[in-house]
Amino acid sequence: MKNLFSGKASFEFLNHLSVNIGARLGGSREEKKAAYYILERFKEWGLKSYLQEFKTKDFSVKKSFITSRETGDIHCRSYGLCSNTPTKGITSDIVWCLSGSPLEITPDIKNKIIVRYGALDDKLRKKMDEYEPAGVIVIGSSRGTKALHIERLEEWDKILANQPTLMISYDDGLKLVKAKPKKMTIITEQDIKPSTSQNVIGELKGGLYPEEIIVVCGHYDSIWEGSGASDNAGGTAIVMELARIFSIHGSKRTIRFIAFGSEERGLNGSRYYIKELAKKDKKEKEKKEYIKIWDKTELDNHLLTINIDVHGALLGTNHVAVAGCSDHIVGMQLLSKELGFKLDIKEYAMSSDGTSLAYHGIPALQFARSSPSNNVLHTEEDTISWLDRQALEDYGRFLEILLFRWVSCSAEFPLERKISDENVKKIKAYFLKHLKLDMEAGLETKKKK
Ligand SMILES: [Zn+2]
Repeated sequence: MKNLFSGKASFEFLNHLSVNIGARLGGSREEKKAAYYILERFKEWGLKSYLQEFKTKDFSVKKSFITSRETGDIHCRSYGLCSNTPTKGITSDIVWCLSGSPLEITPDIKNKIIVRYGALDDKLRKKMDEYEPAGVIVIGSSRGTKALHIERLEEWDKILANQPTLMISYDDGLKLVKAKPKKMTIITEQDIKPSTSQNVIGELKGGLYPEEIIVVCGHYDSIWEGSGASDNAGGTAIVMELARIFSIHGSKRTIRFIAFGSEERGLNGSRYYIKELAKKDKKEKEKKEYIKIWDKTELDNHLLTINIDVHGALLGTNHVAVAGCSDHIVGMQLLSKELGFKLDIKEYAMSSDGTSLAYHGIPALQFARSSPSNNVLHTEEDTISWLDRQALEDYGRFLEILLFRWVSCSAEFPLERKISDENVKKIKAYFLKHLKLDMEAGLETKKKK
């Protein structure tokens, strides 16, 4: 096999997404622009290509503001989809919740502004909602970076209260806690409107085993007002370049290239994709003609997900999160050693699209580039400046060989379609504890009383 993966070509895709288009929040006009850019390339390369649309909300932040007499104005970012303050803001006493102790979350927080550092466990989180604070300021956990641009999951409106919430950096948090003001004023104002987001799908039909499907994916959306260069224009660029070169290499099996939308909004694109597949699967299995011992649905025929998220750092190390069985671990060990591609292999449910597909039984290999510069992820500083075409090419060529041998050419697909019980537990815990979603209930979860 001749390596076709080009660092130059993939860096151009990365540049177009993160610099020319820029911020691509799930559900926004810019995300749509990026979707059409990818769709047009997929079509050019002769893939069977289409958009898969789903409903979401678009939001834009009009104002984020924090001030106190002792500190002056503090740089901050509204928490996406949080509720607005009145236009003139909220001025109130402050409660300090800096250790996550139950002593800090008491009925006394009612109508006050909470300054929070560190995560709250679910029990305290629920208490905090019950006691109705006026607003929340969240201190970041990475030193030397700006305030996070993140957003709530839309589904949380059904289970969690929604307070006006603002994010500040770790460094500003430190200054704030030292100054210990008695009162603060906060303003957050967002325009929220119904919208659509979309997955971009480009399929290369398998020549010999078209029914066997391998998904090669990465999300192309970004956080709000951030170019999302490494997260995940970098990964999308690798997916696109693989799509381009495999349309030349060809494949015995079907490779479905997917750029997922709205990942930053809570894996929304991949959750939509797998929900639709699982619905079809259920319907087919209920039919009289369905023969259990050998009939396979489209979902059953999904053999593996290769998800590519956070890429391009010039100085960094290579990492794969495995949601599968011993085949996947051993396979990764052998291939990385054989090719001299140093790879840190761990079994866990990575917070990324492959985990949505793994929830319905499709093993996932989720590749990332780890780097000290990753502490700027989800901030406006995730820019192209610390990325390089060489990093894309080295990683891309490793993935090219993996796909070429195991998917394009192998006599039998070498990896069992199996996820170990231990990994299944981790995947379920990820959705329930981290995303607070009951996946069995579809996108619905228990109603707020
Ligand atoms: Zn990402």
